[in-house]
Amino acid sequence: MRAVVLEQQGQPLKSVTLPDPVPGPGQLLLQVQACGVCRTDLHLRDAEIEAGKLPVVLGHQIVGTTEGGRRVGVPWLGYTDGECRYCRSDRENLCVNARFTGSDIDGGYAELTVADERFCLPLPDELSAEQAAPLLCGGLIGYRALRFTGDATTLGLFGFGSAAHMICQVAVHQGREVYAFTRPGDERTQEFAKSLGATWAGGTDEIAPVQLDAAIIFAPAGELVPGALKLLAPGGTVVCAGIHMSDIPSFPYEDLWHERTIRSVANLTRRDGEEFIALAPKVPVRTTITKYPLEQAETALADLRAGRFEGTAVIVP
Ligand SMILES: [Zn+2]
Ligand SMILES: [Zn+2]
Repeated sequence: MRAVVLEQQGQPLKSVTLPDPVPGPGQLLLQVQACGVCRTDLHLRDAEIEAGKLPVVLGHQIVGTTEGGRRVGVPWLGYTDGECRYCRSDRENLCVNARFTGSDIDGGYAELTVADERFCLPLPDELSAEQAAPLLCGGLIGYRALRFTGDATTLGLFGFGSAAHMICQVAVHQGREVYAFTRPGDERTQEFAKSLGATWAGGTDEIAPVQLDAAIIFAPAGELVPGALKLLAPGGTVVCAGIHMSDIPSFPYEDLWHERTIRSVANLTRRDGEEFIALAPKVPVRTTITKYPLEQAETALADLRAGRFEGTAVIVP
Protein backbone atom coordinates (compact mmCIF):
# COMPACT_ATOMS: atom_id res chain seq x y z
CA MET A 1 0.00 0.00 0.00
CA ARG A 2 1.00 3.61 -0.41
CA ALA A 3 1.59 5.43 2.87
CA VAL A 4 3.28 8.51 4.25
CA VAL A 5 5.47 7.88 7.27
CA LEU A 6 7.20 9.94 9.93
CA GLU A 7 10.59 8.24 10.20
CA GLN A 8 12.26 10.80 12.43
CA GLN A 9 10.64 13.62 14.36
CA GLY A 10 11.65 17.05 13.10
CA GLN A 11 12.12 15.67 9.56
CA PRO A 12 9.67 15.83 6.61
CA LEU A 13 7.20 12.98 6.11
CA LYS A 14 8.18 10.43 3.44
CA SER A 15 6.02 8.74 0.80
CA VAL A 16 6.70 5.00 0.87
CA THR A 17 5.24 1.66 -0.15
CA LEU A 18 4.53 -0.63 2.81
CA PRO A 19 3.22 -4.19 3.00
CA ASP A 20 -0.57 -4.22 3.41
CA PRO A 21 -1.41 -4.35 7.14
CA VAL A 22 -2.89 -7.61 8.43
CA PRO A 23 -5.69 -7.31 11.00
CA GLY A 24 -5.09 -9.09 14.31
CA PRO A 25 -7.85 -10.57 16.52
CA GLY A 26 -10.59 -7.97 17.08
CA GLN A 27 -9.17 -5.61 14.48
CA LEU A 28 -10.81 -4.31 11.31
CA LEU A 29 -8.94 -3.89 8.04
CA LEU A 30 -10.04 -0.54 6.64
CA GLN A 31 -9.68 1.15 3.31
CA VAL A 32 -9.01 4.80 4.18
CA GLN A 33 -11.54 7.11 2.50
CA ALA A 34 -10.33 10.28 4.19
CA CYS A 35 -8.11 11.26 7.11
CA GLY A 36 -8.31 14.64 8.81
CA VAL A 37 -5.12 16.50 9.69
CA CYS A 38 -4.90 17.43 13.38
CA ARG A 39 -2.55 19.89 15.06
CA THR A 40 -1.29 16.90 17.06
CA ASP A 41 0.08 15.48 13.78
CA LEU A 42 2.01 18.71 13.36
CA HIS A 43 3.28 18.56 16.97
CA LEU A 44 4.51 14.99 16.29
CA ARG A 45 6.11 16.03 12.97
CA ASP A 46 7.80 19.01 14.66
CA ALA A 47 8.99 16.99 17.70
CA GLU A 48 6.94 19.06 20.14
CA ILE A 49 5.44 15.89 21.61
CA GLU A 50 7.05 12.45 21.63
CA ALA A 51 5.87 9.85 19.13
CA GLY A 52 4.81 6.51 20.63
CA LYS A 53 6.85 4.65 17.98
CA LEU A 54 9.00 5.40 14.95
CA PRO A 55 8.56 5.12 12.10
CA VAL A 56 4.86 5.82 12.41
CA VAL A 57 2.01 6.51 10.01
CA LEU A 58 0.34 9.67 11.36
CA GLY A 59 -3.38 10.41 11.23
CA HIS A 60 -6.13 9.81 13.80
CA GLN A 61 -9.27 11.20 12.16
CA ILE A 62 -9.82 8.26 9.84
CA VAL A 63 -12.95 7.46 7.88
CA GLY A 64 -12.55 3.95 6.53
CA THR A 65 -14.65 1.17 5.06
CA THR A 66 -14.47 -2.47 6.05
CA GLU A 67 -14.24 -5.29 3.55
CA GLY A 68 -18.01 -5.67 3.98
CA GLY A 69 -18.56 -2.01 3.03
CA ARG A 70 -19.36 -0.75 6.56
CA ARG A 71 -18.11 2.77 7.23
CA VAL A 72 -16.47 3.64 10.56
CA GLY A 73 -14.46 6.43 12.14
CA VAL A 74 -11.15 5.79 13.89
CA PRO A 75 -10.31 8.41 16.54
CA TRP A 76 -7.19 9.20 18.60
CA LEU A 77 -8.04 6.73 21.42
CA GLY A 78 -7.02 3.42 19.87
CA TYR A 79 -6.78 1.09 22.85
CA THR A 80 -7.31 1.01 26.62
CA ASP A 81 -6.65 -1.81 29.10
CA GLY A 82 -10.18 -1.68 30.55
CA GLU A 83 -8.92 -2.47 34.03
CA CYS A 84 -6.90 0.40 35.49
CA ARG A 85 -8.47 2.75 38.07
CA TYR A 86 -9.33 5.26 35.33
CA CYS A 87 -10.98 2.73 33.04
CA ARG A 88 -12.96 1.37 35.97
CA SER A 89 -14.23 4.86 36.86
CA ASP A 90 -15.47 5.94 33.42
CA ARG A 91 -12.31 7.91 32.64
CA GLU A 92 -10.76 5.78 29.93
CA ASN A 93 -9.32 8.96 28.39
CA LEU A 94 -6.78 8.83 31.26
CA CYS A 95 -6.03 5.07 30.99
CA VAL A 96 -2.45 4.39 32.11
CA ASN A 97 -1.96 1.89 29.25
CA ALA A 98 -3.84 3.83 26.56
CA ARG A 99 -2.49 3.62 23.02
CA PHE A 100 -3.16 6.33 20.49
CA THR A 101 -3.83 6.13 16.78
CA GLY A 102 -1.20 7.76 14.60
CA SER A 103 1.38 7.79 17.42
CA ASP A 104 1.49 4.36 19.14
CA ILE A 105 -0.49 2.65 16.36
CA ASP A 106 -0.09 3.32 12.62
CA GLY A 107 -2.80 5.76 11.51
CA GLY A 108 -4.59 6.98 8.43
CA TYR A 109 -2.04 8.73 6.19
CA ALA A 110 -2.20 5.57 4.09
CA GLU A 111 -4.40 3.61 1.72
CA LEU A 112 -5.14 0.95 4.35
CA THR A 113 -5.11 0.73 8.11
CA VAL A 114 -6.14 -1.67 10.87
CA ALA A 115 -8.03 -0.61 14.00
CA ASP A 116 -9.42 -2.24 17.15
CA GLU A 117 -13.12 -2.60 16.39
CA ARG A 118 -14.08 -1.69 19.99
CA PHE A 119 -12.69 1.81 19.47
CA CYS A 120 -14.18 2.45 16.02
CA LEU A 121 -17.19 4.76 15.83
CA PRO A 122 -20.15 4.10 13.54
CA LEU A 123 -20.75 7.08 11.22
CA PRO A 124 -24.08 8.44 9.93
CA ASP A 125 -24.63 8.04 6.18
CA GLU A 126 -25.55 11.67 5.56
CA LEU A 127 -21.96 12.88 5.94
CA SER A 128 -19.38 12.40 3.20
CA ALA A 129 -16.08 10.86 4.30
CA GLU A 130 -14.28 14.18 3.85
CA GLN A 131 -16.93 16.04 5.86
CA ALA A 132 -16.93 13.44 8.64
CA ALA A 133 -13.16 13.14 9.14
CA PRO A 134 -12.65 16.44 11.04
CA LEU A 135 -15.37 15.48 13.54
CA LEU A 136 -13.20 12.62 14.78
CA CYS A 137 -10.68 14.66 16.75
CA GLY A 138 -11.16 18.41 16.49
CA GLY A 139 -14.90 17.89 16.75
CA LEU A 140 -15.17 15.41 19.53
CA ILE A 141 -12.29 16.57 21.74
CA GLY A 142 -13.54 20.12 21.15
CA TYR A 143 -16.95 18.89 22.30
CA ARG A 144 -15.39 17.45 25.46
CA ALA A 145 -13.80 20.87 26.09
CA LEU A 146 -17.16 22.56 25.48
CA ARG A 147 -18.80 20.29 28.08
CA PHE A 148 -16.24 21.48 30.64
CA THR A 149 -17.50 25.06 30.18
CA GLY A 150 -20.79 24.02 31.85
CA ASP A 151 -23.69 26.34 31.13
CA ALA A 152 -21.49 29.28 30.07
CA THR A 153 -23.53 31.74 28.02
CA THR A 154 -20.68 33.95 26.83
CA LEU A 155 -17.91 31.74 25.45
CA GLY A 156 -14.50 32.79 24.16
CA LEU A 157 -12.73 30.59 21.59
CA PHE A 158 -9.01 31.31 21.29
CA GLY A 159 -7.46 30.05 18.04
CA PHE A 160 -10.07 29.62 15.34
CA GLY A 161 -8.90 26.53 13.44
CA SER A 162 -10.33 23.07 12.90
CA ALA A 163 -11.80 22.40 16.34
CA ALA A 164 -13.08 25.94 16.94
CA HIS A 165 -14.87 26.18 13.60
CA MET A 166 -16.95 23.12 14.55
CA ILE A 167 -17.43 23.95 18.24
CA CYS A 168 -18.56 27.48 17.34
CA GLN A 169 -21.48 25.96 15.43
CA VAL A 170 -22.37 23.61 18.32
CA ALA A 171 -22.18 26.44 20.88
CA VAL A 172 -24.41 28.72 18.78
CA HIS A 173 -26.86 25.82 18.31
CA GLN A 174 -26.95 25.49 22.13
CA GLY A 175 -27.88 29.19 22.43
CA ARG A 176 -24.49 30.47 23.60
CA GLU A 177 -22.75 33.64 22.40
CA VAL A 178 -19.35 32.97 20.84
CA TYR A 179 -16.49 35.48 21.00
CA ALA A 180 -13.76 34.35 18.59
CA PHE A 181 -10.13 35.36 19.06
CA THR A 182 -7.72 34.92 16.14
CA ARG A 183 -4.14 35.91 15.43
CA PRO A 184 -4.01 39.74 15.59
CA GLY A 185 -4.95 41.24 12.21
CA ASP A 186 -6.27 37.95 10.76
CA GLU A 187 -9.43 39.53 9.39
CA ARG A 188 -10.08 36.63 7.01
CA THR A 189 -10.45 34.19 9.94
CA GLN A 190 -12.47 36.74 11.92
CA GLU A 191 -14.95 36.97 9.03
CA PHE A 192 -14.97 33.15 8.84
CA ALA A 193 -15.89 32.99 12.56
CA LYS A 194 -18.72 35.47 12.09
CA SER A 195 -20.02 33.50 9.11
CA LEU A 196 -20.35 30.50 11.47
CA GLY A 197 -22.42 32.45 13.98
CA ALA A 198 -19.85 34.12 16.26
CA THR A 199 -21.31 37.21 17.93
CA TRP A 200 -17.94 38.96 17.88
CA ALA A 201 -14.52 38.24 16.42
CA GLY A 202 -11.23 40.01 16.98
CA GLY A 203 -7.53 39.50 17.59
CA THR A 204 -6.05 37.97 20.75
CA ASP A 205 -4.72 41.49 21.43
CA GLU A 206 -8.28 42.80 21.68
CA ILE A 207 -10.74 42.80 24.57
CA ALA A 208 -14.16 41.18 24.17
CA PRO A 209 -17.12 43.57 24.67
CA VAL A 210 -18.50 41.39 27.50
CA GLN A 211 -17.12 39.36 30.40
CA LEU A 212 -16.71 35.71 29.40
CA ASP A 213 -18.32 32.88 31.39
CA ALA A 214 -15.73 30.52 29.90
CA ALA A 215 -12.96 30.37 27.35
CA ILE A 216 -11.53 27.45 25.39
CA ILE A 217 -7.94 27.79 24.21
CA PHE A 218 -7.31 25.79 21.05
CA ALA A 219 -4.09 27.59 20.05
CA PRO A 220 -0.92 26.00 21.48
CA ALA A 221 0.19 29.34 22.96
CA GLY A 222 0.50 29.44 26.76
CA GLU A 223 0.69 33.25 26.76
CA LEU A 224 -3.02 33.31 25.84
CA VAL A 225 -4.01 31.75 29.19
CA PRO A 226 -3.42 34.76 31.51
CA GLY A 227 -5.09 37.02 28.91
CA ALA A 228 -8.16 34.77 28.72
CA LEU A 229 -8.29 34.56 32.52
CA LYS A 230 -8.44 38.36 32.73
CA LEU A 231 -11.58 38.35 30.52
CA LEU A 232 -13.44 35.81 32.70
CA ALA A 233 -16.40 36.60 34.90
CA PRO A 234 -16.17 35.31 38.52
CA GLY A 235 -16.62 31.53 38.62
CA GLY A 236 -15.51 31.22 35.00
CA THR A 237 -13.27 28.55 33.48
CA VAL A 238 -10.40 28.58 31.01
CA VAL A 239 -10.21 25.20 29.26
CA CYS A 240 -6.94 24.36 27.50
CA ALA A 241 -7.96 21.93 24.78
CA GLY A 242 -4.64 21.09 23.12
CA ILE A 243 -2.21 18.23 23.75
CA HIS A 244 0.72 20.65 23.73
CA MET A 245 1.08 24.27 24.80
CA SER A 246 4.04 26.57 25.31
CA ASP A 247 4.72 27.58 28.93
CA ILE A 248 2.07 29.66 30.66
CA PRO A 249 3.54 32.93 31.98
CA SER A 250 2.93 33.82 35.62
CA PHE A 251 0.01 36.05 36.50
CA PRO A 252 -1.35 37.77 39.64
CA TYR A 253 -3.43 35.59 41.96
CA GLU A 254 -6.08 38.27 41.83
CA ASP A 255 -6.89 37.16 38.27
CA LEU A 256 -7.66 33.61 39.47
CA TRP A 257 -9.49 34.77 42.61
CA HIS A 258 -13.30 34.48 42.76
CA GLU A 259 -13.31 30.82 41.89
CA ARG A 260 -11.98 31.08 38.38
CA THR A 261 -10.52 27.80 37.10
CA ILE A 262 -7.89 26.76 34.56
CA ARG A 263 -8.04 23.17 33.35
CA SER A 264 -6.88 20.95 30.52
CA VAL A 265 -8.63 18.34 28.38
CA ALA A 266 -6.90 15.04 27.66
CA ASN A 267 -7.94 12.67 24.88
CA LEU A 268 -11.48 11.33 24.63
CA THR A 269 -13.71 8.57 25.84
CA ARG A 270 -15.76 6.45 23.48
CA ARG A 271 -18.84 8.04 25.00
CA ASP A 272 -17.59 11.51 23.92
CA GLY A 273 -17.30 10.12 20.41
CA GLU A 274 -20.76 8.56 20.34
CA GLU A 275 -22.40 11.68 21.79
CA PHE A 276 -20.72 14.07 19.40
CA ILE A 277 -21.25 11.94 16.28
CA ALA A 278 -24.96 11.78 17.18
CA LEU A 279 -25.13 15.54 17.85
CA ALA A 280 -23.20 16.78 14.79
CA PRO A 281 -25.92 16.11 12.16
CA LYS A 282 -28.55 17.75 14.38
CA VAL A 283 -26.69 21.08 14.60
CA PRO A 284 -25.79 20.48 11.75
CA VAL A 285 -22.01 20.92 11.96
CA ARG A 286 -20.71 21.89 8.53
CA THR A 287 -16.98 21.37 8.18
CA THR A 288 -14.88 23.61 5.98
CA ILE A 289 -12.20 21.45 4.42
CA THR A 290 -9.19 21.67 2.12
CA LYS A 291 -8.31 18.37 0.44
CA TYR A 292 -4.78 17.08 -0.13
CA PRO A 293 -3.69 13.90 -1.91
CA LEU A 294 -1.72 11.44 0.23
CA GLU A 295 1.65 12.43 -1.24
CA GLN A 296 1.06 16.04 -0.18
CA ALA A 297 0.62 15.31 3.54
CA GLU A 298 3.83 17.24 4.31
CA THR A 299 2.41 20.27 2.44
CA ALA A 300 -0.83 19.96 4.43
CA LEU A 301 1.17 20.13 7.67
CA ALA A 302 3.18 23.12 6.40
CA ASP A 303 -0.06 24.90 5.46
CA LEU A 304 -1.49 24.16 8.93
CA ARG A 305 1.66 25.54 10.57
CA ALA A 306 1.39 28.73 8.48
CA GLY A 307 -2.39 29.09 8.90
CA ARG A 308 -2.95 28.98 5.12
CA PHE A 309 -6.44 27.47 5.15
CA GLU A 310 -9.66 27.89 7.16
CA GLY A 311 -11.18 24.86 8.90
CA THR A 312 -9.51 21.48 8.45
CA ALA A 313 -7.10 19.86 6.00
CA VAL A 314 -8.20 16.39 4.92
CA ILE A 315 -5.99 13.79 3.27
CA VAL A 316 -7.77 11.80 0.58
CA PRO A 317 -5.65 8.78 -0.44
ZN1 LIG B 1 -6.19 15.18 17.11
ZN1 LIG C 1 -7.07 1.72 31.70
